[in-house]
Amino acid sequence: MAEVTEALVLDALRTVKDPDKGADIVSLGMVSGLVVKGGNVGFSIEVDPKRGPALEPLRQAAERAVDALPGVFSVTAVLTAHRAGPQMPARSGHGHDHGHSHGAPQGQGGGAKAAVPGVKAIVAVASGKGGVGKSTTAANLALALAANGQKVGLLDADIYGPSMPRMMGISGKPNSRDGKTLEPMQNYGIKVMSMGFLVAEDTPMIWRGPMVISALQQMLRDVNWGELDVLVVDMPPGTGDAQLTMAQNVPLAGSVIVSTPQDIALLDARKGLNMFRRVDVPVLGIVENMSYFCCPNCGHRTDIFSHGGARAEAEKLGVDFLGEVPLDIAIRETSDGGAPIVMSQPDSPHAKVYRAIAAQVWAKVGGAGARRAGPRIVVE
Ligand code: ADP
Repeated sequence: MAEVTEALVLDALRTVKDPDKGADIVSLGMVSGLVVKGGNVGFSIEVDPKRGPALEPLRQAAERAVDALPGVFSVTAVLTAHRAGPQMPARSGHGHDHGHSHGAPQGQGGGAKAAVPGVKAIVAVASGKGGVGKSTTAANLALALAANGQKVGLLDADIYGPSMPRMMGISGKPNSRDGKTLEPMQNYGIKVMSMGFLVAEDTPMIWRGPMVISALQQMLRDVNWGELDVLVVDMPPGTGDAQLTMAQNVPLAGSVIVSTPQDIALLDARKGLNMFRRVDVPVLGIVENMSYFCCPNCGHRTDIFSHGGARAEAEKLGVDFLGEVPLDIAIRETSDGGAPIVMSQPDSPHAKVYRAIAAQVWAKVGGAGARRAGPRIVVE
C-alpha cells in the first residue's frame, strides 16, 4: 500500500505553476495548512483576494495533481485570501485601539489582538478534549451571566461541531442590515453567533488553519454584537494549532477550562491550561463537569469518578476552582433540547451552581476591570 506523506503531496504540488508568476505554488510559499490523514489530503492555497476568482483553475489543477498520487482517496484544496485584509489588525497599532481603553484587562502582548468595540470582556470556554461538556457549560455560563444581570453574547467557535443553535434553541439564518455586518441571532436574552447558522448541518466542511482563523475573526468582528459585558466563546475542543492560534488572535480577558474528573487524571485539562498560559491569557479557573452522579429517581449522589480531583488539581496548579457540576440527565435533556437548565429550571440546584460560577467569572473579568477603572464617587 502506498502511504501518502506530506513530502509526496508537496512534490506533486511543485508541478503546479501559478499562471501569473511562472513559478510553482510550493516554491512561492502559497501552500499552507497541509493535512494528510490516511489517504485524505487537505490544504489551502493562499492567494491575493483580488486574484481569487481567476484562480479556480489553479485550485483544480492542484487537486488533480495530488489526486493522481497512489493511495490518495480524497483531496480538498481551498483558496484562501492571504493576510492583507482590512479586518486583520496589523502591527501598525493605530485605528482599532481607541475607545474602550478602560475596559477589562485584555490578554497582554497582543499586537494582533484588537479589542472588539462595545464588548467589555471576552471569555473562552475550553477543554483539553471533546465530549467533556464544554458547550453545555458555555451555554449555561452565558445564561447564568445574563441571569446575574450582565449583557451577554455567545460565540460558537466550535466550528467543527457547532452545537449552539441546538442548545440555545435557535434556527434560521442571521440577517444583515447593511450588507456588511451580520445581526446575531437571539434567544433567552443572549445574542448568539454560530457557524451552524451559516452552513447547513449536513454539509461536510474541512477547515484548514487559515480558514478557521478567518471564520472566527468574521464571527467576532463582522457581527453586530452591540454593547456586551461578556462575550462567551465556546472554543473548539482540544489544544492543537487551531486552538492555539485562536487563543492568540482573540483578545481574551480569560479562559474557563472545563474538565471531567477522569480527564483531570489524564492531564488533558493541564494541556488546556498550558495553552492559555503560553499565549498570556489568564486562566480564570476550572469547572469540574460530570463531577458526580445524581440519581434522577432518588436524588442519591454517587461519586463515580472519584470526584473532587479537579479541586485538588486546580490547587496544585495554582488555578481557581470555580465549581462542580454533576452528571445529571436533566442537564443533558435541557441543553440538548434547546433550553439549558439555567433558563428552564432556574430554581434547580444545578442552575445555582452555574450562577455561582458565573458570579466568579464576572468578578474576575468585569468586577475587577471596573474597579481598575478608578474609584467610584459615592454621594450619600
Ligand atoms: P463538548 O462541548 O465538550 O463536546 P457537550 O457540551 O456537547 O460537550 O456535551 C456532550 C454531551 O454530554 C451532551 O449530550 C451534553 O448534553 C451532555 N452533558 C454535558 N454535561 C453534562 C452533565 N453535567 N450531565 C449530563 N449530561 C451532560
